Amino acid sequence: MTSPTRRNFLRSGTLATVSTVLNSCSKEKSPPEPEPFKGIVDIHQHVGYLERPDAQLIAHQELMGITQTVLLPSASAVSLPSTHDGKSNGLAAGARGNEACRRIVEDNPEHYASFANEVPDLPNARQELERFLKAGAIGIGEQKFAIDCDSKHSELIASIAKEFDVPVLLHFQHGSYNLHFERFHKILEKFPSVNFIGHAQTWWGNIDLNHKQPTMYPKDPVTPGGLTDRYLADYPNLFGDLSAGSGRNALTRDEDHAREFLNRHQDKLLFGSDCPDRFGQGAQCIGSSTLEILRRLVEDEATLEKILGRNARGIMRL
Ligand SMILES: [Zn+2]
Ligand SMILES: [Zn+2]
Repeated sequence: MTSPTRRNFLRSGTLATVSTVLNSCSKEKSPPEPEPFKGIVDIHQHVGYLERPDAQLIAHQELMGITQTVLLPSASAVSLPSTHDGKSNGLAAGARGNEACRRIVEDNPEHYASFANEVPDLPNARQELERFLKAGAIGIGEQKFAIDCDSKHSELIASIAKEFDVPVLLHFQHGSYNLHFERFHKILEKFPSVNFIGHAQTWWGNIDLNHKQPTMYPKDPVTPGGLTDRYLADYPNLFGDLSAGSGRNALTRDEDHAREFLNRHQDKLLFGSDCPDRFGQGAQCIGSSTLEILRRLVEDEATLEKILGRNARGIMRL
């Protein structure tokens, strides 16, 4: 509480005097000023998403107010159990691959970066990932394949990420992709120097202690302490991707919980859009509406800056 004396001083002093006094007081105690905020990072977009032309992707990102976008390529189109016999090719979203993403980055290096991707159980997965990581890709993903999340294929991906010192982004979906989320701690423990980024329905559903695994978009209030909540608290090398309907649903299903969750994990959460629309604004654009929700739920400016860009720049070295 401000004392009456202090309040009188604040009211009567000129602004310059007040700010000089306040600055000189706070400078003695507080850590060095962080770098100025460099704008919003969208860590989750796709090229050719539901046939969206590249020019519309770029316009969409500009309208959303994004400074830097991370493109997540699909992998080789193959018919294997890990791609549901080809049904999940293109990340089941028409997303284009490594080359298409690299071309956009080459044309717009200031505003775009790309991950590299490959089906993890293809014999040439390592070669393909290394080729694009050497060419400047800054991470691996979106890994969205029907494999066990602690399988030897997952270990291969993690070991390449370790070698290149880049993060891995994974789509967790019960019964469909990166199976057995409850065993993911094994990978987190085995690869402590690799930063993993969790995404999608099963990642977000499990913020709730009472989550029913088959439910994809739960609407009921959240009891803290679910698997995702505990993983984030226990493993410094794990981060959360707020993109897509799943991320937005996790924020809106119980806003009181969401405020605390955002605050609790403010160093571990990353804004992403993952939206295929051509609007770039309004309720039909998942990214824009998620931004609006975050701005409403996160009142502290420094926390908001972390979630909208600082955390991503930290682990992706953008
Ligand atoms: Zn995606
Ligand atoms: Zn959108």
